[in-house]
Amino acid sequence: MMMQEKTLCKLCRDEADELEDFCTECMCKVPGFLLEALTVEAHYVLGAFGDVLDFTSASIQGDWVTLFLSRDWRSVESGKSMQIKLTDIDWLTVKENFK
Ligand SMILES: [Zn+2]
Repeated sequence: MMMQEKTLCKLCRDEADELEDFCTECMCKVPGFLLEALTVEAHYVLGAFGDVLDFTSASIQGDWVTLFLSRDWRSVESGKSMQIKLTDIDWLTVKENFK
């Protein structure tokens, strides 16, 4: 008989929660919309540094978040990626789904 393969957390590769793509630890540490941005491209907006950043997808390395910007932000051009700390994020939402 085949063993049912365990679902692994898409972020830390630990065992994910049942019916979830991520483990409890990651879901507690990382905002839901940011977890979504790891796998689903959309128009996301976040507040940080008293400013607003628009991005389409993200990746996470430890305490750092890499954002793929969809609008120029200060000296960073649209289409470029930039990294901010997870703790720099004040708020986060999804503005528009591309599906
Ligand atoms: Zn995890």
